[in-house]
Amino acid sequence: MRDVEAFYGQIQALRGVSLDVHEGEIVTLLGSNGAGKSTTLKTISGLVRAQRGEVQLEGESIAKLAAHEIARRGVVHVPEGRRILRGLTVKENLELGAFTVKDSGLRRQRLDEVYALFPILHERRHQDGSLLSGGQQQMLAMGRALMHGPSVMLLDEPSMGLAPKLVTDIMRIIKRLNEAGTTILLVEQNARLALRLAHYAYVIENGEIRMQGAAAELRQDESIVKAYLGVG
Ligand code: ATP
Repeated sequence: MRDVEAFYGQIQALRGVSLDVHEGEIVTLLGSNGAGKSTTLKTISGLVRAQRGEVQLEGESIAKLAAHEIARRGVVHVPEGRRILRGLTVKENLELGAFTVKDSGLRRQRLDEVYALFPILHERRHQDGSLLSGGQQQMLAMGRALMHGPSVMLLDEPSMGLAPKLVTDIMRIIKRLNEAGTTILLVEQNARLALRLAHYAYVIENGEIRMQGAAAELRQDESIVKAYLGVG
């Protein structure tokens, strides 16, 4: 994205944000509450319109496309808070994720892949998705996104509210998805964790990118971690 400005009514949430996510990378976007991290993901996935600037996927503008069109092109958003639908089983929640996939054989294959990645979802497939634990709901949200067969995943705070063991599990799965070829833009409050996983990092403050660099370099600089990212 280039020079993106986004607003909620009069409130300017993004003040000229530019960032690049190269194919095959994990890029993390760090920053404190209200800095503009979620809004950045939303302007990519089409949930919020960029009022100025440009968002491109493989050189083509996607800034004016509807959210479902952007999903169809392989960019899926796993929002903060997971948005598991109450009253639908785990399996039905997953199947909803595949609304862009016409081929029923492919849908079944994706479902099997998701179950292989998250065996607990297979065990719980007939239960109401909203009754799962926080960690399992996060897995369901990621599984639902994977049903699209995404090339790019936008992950908003996947570790939020999870016990440390589950955070480690989720991070391992993110790494595995990336190694299998999925490009990832990861929003995290837990900077240390994100910097261990990512190749490249951006720090956003007050709607502006304040810093960027190789994750390995940012991670080693304690003063940067303290000044910009707090503890975590
Ligand atoms: P958090 O981790 O708390 O979600 P964030 O970095 O993701 O923080 P955003 O959610 O992108 O931050 O919010 C950026 C700014 O836009 C904040 O000032 C926030 O109050 C404002 N904002 C976000 N969503 C809305 C909304 N729906 N209506 C009005 N203002 C909003």
